[in-house]
This record gives sequence, C-alpha cells and structure tokens, in this order.
Amino acid sequence: MNKEFFKSLFKDKKLRRSHPRFLIYQELSDTKTSLSPLELYQALLKKQRKIGLTSIYRSLDLFESLGIVFKIMNGTSVKYKLCETEDHHHHIICKACGSVVELNFCDISDWAKKVTESTGYQVIDHQLNFYGYCKACKPSQI
Ligand SMILES: [Zn+2]
Ligand SMILES: [Zn+2]
Ligand SMILES: [Zn+2]
Repeated sequence: MNKEFFKSLFKDKKLRRSHPRFLIYQELSDTKTSLSPLELYQALLKKQRKIGLTSIYRSLDLFESLGIVFKIMNGTSVKYKLCETEDHHHHIICKACGSVVELNFCDISDWAKKVTESTGYQVIDHQLNFYGYCKACKPSQI
C-alpha cells in the first residue's frame, strides 16, 4: 500500500522504464501538479510516448488503489496528483482552484470508536477529504 511496494513493482522485469505504467508515474512525478487523464495523455504524446487513454485510466486506477495518487474530483473535472506522503494521510482540496494539500495528521480514533459502538463493525480503514478555499482563493470568495 505504499511507494516501496510500487518501487518493487518497477524492479520487476515486466515493468521496464519504457513500460506505460512507469512513464505515467514518471510524468506525474515530474509535473508535481495535478493532471487529468487527457492532460497526461497529451503530455506523454509531446514526448513521443503514445499511450492509450484506456491504459492511462487503468494505471491511474491502480495507483489510486495503492494509495500512490490522489483523485481530485471538483465538479465534473477529475485530476490525479502524486502523493508526497507515503503513510496514511488526508487531503484538503480548494473548491475554487483545485489545489491540494496533504494533511499529515489523523485523529479520528474517537470517531472510529463511536462507529464501532453504534454499528458493531470493526473499523479497519477510512477515507476522509476536507474541502474549502486556499489562501489565494479565500479573499475573492468572501
Ligand atoms: Zn496524498
Ligand atoms: Zn485555491
Ligand atoms: Zn485518517
């Protein structure tokens, strides 16, 4: 579930540096910003790397399930950003510009306890996003 696992995937003979999955990962890593699948496709095409959109979607799905990328959904737009934090973390997304900040703290143990008390479920994982306006967007929004 982390980058180490992913790196070990790359070490596998099947994932050479020319492998689409590796190129997609590298592009996200070089860009340092969030990209939509189409933007990824176009950026790779500029570098003479023709990777089908289906392949890009599939790779991004895989990255997301491994916790390597974060899927940013803002209205109808969907973008992906490489996570800097390897361990469990959360995100806050700006509703205006779509910028994302990773939160390195997670303090929901009381909440998880309440969930267990009220449902009887054993909590093993959770996903939680925060939304708001970043410092740059805040003044015009108020
Ligand atoms: Zn992240
Ligand atoms: Zn913003
Ligand atoms: Zn958490």
